[in-house]
Amino acid sequence: GLTGPAADRWIRRAAALVSADAGELTRLDAAIGDGDHGHNLDRGFAAAVAALPADAPAGRVLIAAGRALVAKTGGASGPLYGTMLRRAGRVLDDCDDPDAADLGAALRAALDGVRELGRAEEGDKTMVDALAPAVAAYAAALDGGAPLPGAARAAADAAAAGADATVPMQARKGRASYLGERSVGHLDPGAASTALVLRALAETLE
Ligand code: ADP
Ligand code: MG
Ligand code: MG
Repeated sequence: GLTGPAADRWIRRAAALVSADAGELTRLDAAIGDGDHGHNLDRGFAAAVAALPADAPAGRVLIAAGRALVAKTGGASGPLYGTMLRRAGRVLDDCDDPDAADLGAALRAALDGVRELGRAEEGDKTMVDALAPAVAAYAAALDGGAPLPGAARAAADAAAAGADATVPMQARKGRASYLGERSVGHLDPGAASTALVLRALAETLE
């Protein structure tokens, strides 16, 4: 299952991956946005790490991280990431000793939260284009009998492919949508960072 220490390691690893790729995320955002995505998320995940509660179950860990992300991340992505983690955390907080299926439900709740807040659908060139295939791949892997680490790896791989698939899309949400057709041909920065966060989960659980 997803223990409190595992959730803690997930957030720390996500923060490390975001920090390592902050320059690249900002470069992607400079092409179709305002060039602050790496900086925004680096600051937000650093705040999330600083806010991690000691000896807490997974749900409480993710809720605390999500709150810190909302409070400290600039830009559109802060509330979206905050919602993602808080929604996932709330699902896990309702389970004692959350198992692989509970994590699947948490990931789905995270996607639903992002969709409700951002009103983006798949194909709009946003974080949803990485998160939605990850949620589906996780569920399919579990259905196929994969254990938790395998399902998390499937989710991470699907998120990375989903992010890559944003390149030919025209943005219909967020700042990149102001560019219209000129947003085509670029990787969406939020989809790229979402893929990093799911990679962090897979690396934590393997
Ligand atoms: P800002 O655009 O305010 O500077 P960021 O640069 O931190 O914020 O984040 C931009 C990313 O946020 C985009 O690449 C996209 O993936 C995501 N995003 C923006 N608007 C939405 C939305 N309505 N729904 C989902 N994701 C969105
Ligand atoms: Mg930006
Ligand atoms: Mg901005």
